[in-house]
Amino acid sequence: MTTVPDVATFDPEIYRADFPILSTVLHGRVPLAYLDNAATTQRPRQVIDALVNTYEKHYANVHRGIHWLSDQSTDLYEEARENVRDFLGAETREEIIFTRGTTESINLIARSWGDWQVREGDEILLTEMEHHSNIVPWQQLSQRTGCRIRFLPITDEGEIELSALDTLLTERTKMVSLTAVSNVLGTVNPVEEITRRAHAAGALVTVDAAQAVPHQTVPLREWDADFVVFSGHKMLGPSGIGVLYGRAELLDAMPPFMGGGSMIQRVTLEGYEPADLPAKFEAGTPSIVPAIGLGTAINYLRNIGLEAIQAHEQRLTQRAHEVLAEVGGVQLLGPAQEKKAGIVSFVMDGIHAHDVAQILDRHGIAVRAGHHCAMPLHKRLRVSASTRASFYLYNTLEEVERIGEALHDLKHIFRRE
Ligand code: PMP
Repeated sequence: MTTVPDVATFDPEIYRADFPILSTVLHGRVPLAYLDNAATTQRPRQVIDALVNTYEKHYANVHRGIHWLSDQSTDLYEEARENVRDFLGAETREEIIFTRGTTESINLIARSWGDWQVREGDEILLTEMEHHSNIVPWQQLSQRTGCRIRFLPITDEGEIELSALDTLLTERTKMVSLTAVSNVLGTVNPVEEITRRAHAAGALVTVDAAQAVPHQTVPLREWDADFVVFSGHKMLGPSGIGVLYGRAELLDAMPPFMGGGSMIQRVTLEGYEPADLPAKFEAGTPSIVPAIGLGTAINYLRNIGLEAIQAHEQRLTQRAHEVLAEVGGVQLLGPAQEKKAGIVSFVMDGIHAHDVAQILDRHGIAVRAGHHCAMPLHKRLRVSASTRASFYLYNTLEEVERIGEALHDLKHIFRRE
């Protein structure tokens, strides 16, 4: 058991000073309350400085230059890879592939592993709570190969119905791909158990960790997944950089995804020989500076400690649940607070999610409204859209109270009180 630091000692104000954008004042009077962290997070000065410093002092293309500056940028790029490896607890640098983000990582798996291993009649098992980026690449694989996509159902409370594994996991299942944390419901899924059962049935497992890696110490060994994917921009890093972790022997056996420079050993007019890992999956000039920025973001998160961040987010989530209950006429999506991460989605009786977000925006509160790239999930929950507040280390209890005040105002405008 890990000990969770005392939340009372966690002061977000200390960290807010590092984030220039958080001092924004909207409409000339209200301070920005940035509660759209599940979409993307903000960057601390340390990350911004790392980007500027690299462009000013260390920038050249990586790998192929035989000059001093290229060596500098290559070293920094590879240091960032080592940092990601260590942060995740992966064994070797060959297992860390830089991509543009979670979406590209899943597309890489579906194209490279999928086209190689999946045939007509095979099955891919997803869940009803997946983000579109963990649905559409598999649907495209199905179009190419004739494989069948199946879905683990969820309960009305937004948890995976594990008993459905008994019938849905069969010898036809080639891949189980699921999110570790739902980007709408905040549900924390039992990845470990699902991986164990999938492996016992002979299937591989992909974990979409876009909403997990930024907020918790990822138990890579316990999850025991074959692939784990996430995005830098949801963890204080730049956009345009993401990670695919894969088991080395699997990545080694997989054919390249994209072709071009850097991913080859040699090219002749007749054909090519792919490079070794990780270069094999990094065709073309990579996102050099964003990767370096991600390394800095990881250092920043590590200095604070992910357990402390997670405990702080739990406190905010708990208070958000209380505040929404006090407002009344609010349907909360997802399970009870103890079973979820710092994501709170809700529907207000008779008021569209976009109207809710607009009024919150007038109060300086940034939230997301709509289907959050999870249309099948909203259909399953029988709601057309929801409003989502999602927290990170720099959010405060005061910002959560402001949601309550804004929603009272909203009810007044819509004459619901
Ligand atoms: N999966 C989940 C669970 C997500 O929350 C997101 C981002 N909203 C993605 C995948 C896609 O990430 P990206 O847009 O960075 O590729």
